Amino acid sequence: MKYDRTFNFSAGPAMMPEPVLEEIRDEMMNYRGSGMCVMEMSHRSAVYQGIIDAAEKDLRELMGIPDNYKVLFIQGGATLQFSMIPMNLMKNGKAVYIETGAWSKKAIAEAKKVGEVVVAASSKDKNYTYVPDCSDLDIPEDADYVYICENETIHGVTWQKLPNTKGKILVSDQSSMFLSRPCNVSDYGMIYAGVQKNVGPAGMVVVIIREDLIRDDLTDLPVYLQYKTHADAGSMYNTPNCWAIYCCGKVFRYLLDQGGLEVMNQKNIDKAKVMYDFLDQSEMFTGTVVPEDRSLMNIPFVTASKELDAEVVAATKAAGFDNLKGHKSVGGLRASTYNAMPKEGVEALVEFLKKFEAEHK
Ligand SMILES: *Cc1c(COP(=O)(O)O)cnc(C)c1O
Repeated sequence: MKYDRTFNFSAGPAMMPEPVLEEIRDEMMNYRGSGMCVMEMSHRSAVYQGIIDAAEKDLRELMGIPDNYKVLFIQGGATLQFSMIPMNLMKNGKAVYIETGAWSKKAIAEAKKVGEVVVAASSKDKNYTYVPDCSDLDIPEDADYVYICENETIHGVTWQKLPNTKGKILVSDQSSMFLSRPCNVSDYGMIYAGVQKNVGPAGMVVVIIREDLIRDDLTDLPVYLQYKTHADAGSMYNTPNCWAIYCCGKVFRYLLDQGGLEVMNQKNIDKAKVMYDFLDQSEMFTGTVVPEDRSLMNIPFVTASKELDAEVVAATKAAGFDNLKGHKSVGGLRASTYNAMPKEGVEALVEFLKKFEAEHK
């Protein structure tokens, strides 16, 4: 490989496309004749305004975001949204949450501090290895929204069909699947994603929110926690995460140049298939999620013992594959195969695991 880079299977921060990193490198000392690096630039300058405007425009084109949705770049990662969502969207003080793994659980715990949470479905009974049937949920009349985590990064499950919200707005945490496949934005009231999984550097979240859900009656709420603050100021109420916006903008442009989200989806399907086909025939390794709900982005798998799991993790690391250790709450291994992971990376990993299995029969 050109830069002696490792195949990095981290769940996040994760790989970024090499051409994007090269462009950033080339612009590092002098961004397009401005005489400075983007890191050194005033966010109030015309040059920077051009950067943030282009990032938003390209994201809108990539996802086909309708005009009645705002795009916000907010700091605090995806985690701050666990609080901002109930603080801003609970009008009746009640919301429905679906519990499908570690990240929806965290969102539920935070929402409970703000109002009443109705967990209408859960896959806890089988350690979050599937997505429950949500075609006919018991949704209270006065619930303000229905919340899902659309791809559970730790447990490796993805929603294939959105829940029937019975007319309530849908709020989705797309952090670890954002821009991995086409998305019909108008099916949602709000979508959000921490960008360090499938887009760029850590420390920022993209919020896509329907305009009529942004309230101006929340004057008691700290100003920074109101969506209105960020919407009114074009995501620049205070100094934004200038660097992350710049890098993410490059990735949006890159994905458009690749042909957009249909193309990415097909690549992601092909890539994950290499891994799942291997797991399905292996006698040593087993995927932990039911086939129907498997994630294309995060692939957890186990051997028969913790000791062997640890041995495999160490062996992969020595062979140049990094960050395959599963999250401590699930154990085993996890291969995160985001947009920027090349198919050759997954093929090389599977070759290695096959060899390991043959040698340890
Ligand atoms: C990583 C992750 C988060 C938390 O993101 P931070 O930016 O670290 O706050 C939330 N939800 C999901 C699905 C994630 O994968």
